[in-house]
Amino acid sequence: MADKTIVILGGGVGGLVTANELRRHSSREHRVVLVDKDGRHVFWPSLLWLQVGLREPQSFVRDLGVLEKKGIEVLKGEVEAIDPERKSVRVDGTEIGADYLVLSPGAELAPEQIPGLAEAGHNLYSLEGATAIRDQRKGLTEGDLVVLVARTPFKCPAAPYEAAMLLEYDLRKRKVRDRVQVSIYTPEPGPMPVAGPDVLAGVRQLVEARKIAYRPQHQVTEVDPATKTLRFANGETAHFDFLVYVPPHVAPSVVREARLVGESGWVPVDRHSMETRFPGVYAIGDVTGIPLALGLPLPKAGVFAHHEGEAVAQTIAARLSGRGKAGAFDGQGECFIEVGDGKAGFGRGNFYAEPRPTVKLYNPGRHWHAGKVLFERDWLRRWF
Ligand SMILES: Cc1cc2nc3c(=O)[nH]c(=O)nc-3n(C[C@H](O)[C@H](O)[C@H](O)COP(=O)(O)OP(=O)(O)OC[C@H]3O[C@@H](n4cnc5c(N)ncnc54)[C@H](O)[C@@H]3O)c2cc1C
Repeated sequence: MADKTIVILGGGVGGLVTANELRRHSSREHRVVLVDKDGRHVFWPSLLWLQVGLREPQSFVRDLGVLEKKGIEVLKGEVEAIDPERKSVRVDGTEIGADYLVLSPGAELAPEQIPGLAEAGHNLYSLEGATAIRDQRKGLTEGDLVVLVARTPFKCPAAPYEAAMLLEYDLRKRKVRDRVQVSIYTPEPGPMPVAGPDVLAGVRQLVEARKIAYRPQHQVTEVDPATKTLRFANGETAHFDFLVYVPPHVAPSVVREARLVGESGWVPVDRHSMETRFPGVYAIGDVTGIPLALGLPLPKAGVFAHHEGEAVAQTIAARLSGRGKAGAFDGQGECFIEVGDGKAGFGRGNFYAEPRPTVKLYNPGRHWHAGKVLFERDWLRRWF
């Protein structure tokens, strides 16, 4: 079984792990091709530190081209079309055929879906937005700082809460906290609802202990940049002087156009093998929609994209060699939750447990924050 080609769409978390693991576990006669439109990898959790001046972008952005030295073919280009039946993609006008296709294009951010949002605020989930928060936050010395979740689902369910707590800590360091009100508005019933009532109450308590006003069940419909007003579906309005937002997420258009998405708007897969309804075509990470027994989907998070990528790489390597076992994603996940003051909490659990995920939240401490810093360093060393 010589000379197979594996094409991986996306050099984010899922694609980076899949490409590395496949290269490590498969013979060099097989081609591993990684296609990414930006040609770079961003370690997204570090945006939370960037927004408060604790990181520079160059410390956590890497050129994917360096993977060539490991024998991974890196193609910087936009996948314009996917043909899942023929297992081929079109990249900047050129058709590339594959024996296995792994789709990890993430979620597309769509701030334009909420009128006024992009003009009025800063997109926490983009390098440009987090850099703008860092540069402009010092102009805020009094008034209302709002962290807004524009819609569910969104990746990294903890991120808006971490962003608010880090910004709150930053205000204290700048000695203007007593003149700035900090609020979080979100359509969710509470923080990270999929993780269960204990985690929801625990994270809410962390936020409210810092005197951050928490406003769940607020679905924003419109933002007025002129009067700095948020309007919500429940008829309420809120004023802001400085707006940090998590934009609506949608499946990338190239995936929608290939009719790979299901009713949820995301790609349905077998929740263990990550195979789509097309044999030999896998989807991993934020682009997938995996329903859980409690009626909510598996959250979109790098930890899942990572483990799903490992499972898919193991399966393809086993099929290529005709030896070894197929991989399976088991729903385990964990995350650090930055709370400011050089501390973080930690949550870990089995998201495939039934009837509901079993997730434990550990109290914040300096050691968890140190763990997150180490994880960032290890990630960039391990995969590049
Ligand atoms: C501020 C922030 C903090 C976070 N913190 C955490 C955390 O602490 N823990 C955690 O588990 N998760 C965290 N996440 C979430 C995590 O980053 C995502 O869940 C993860 O990146 C998803 O991986 P992915 O491979 O699905 O997509 P991505 O990592 O988004 O990668 C997608 C890649 O596909 C490329 N691409 C897209 N479309 C095309 C196309 N048509 N052609 C070519 N290339 C294309 C993009 O350029 C991109 O490189 C955080 C996210 C943010 C924004």
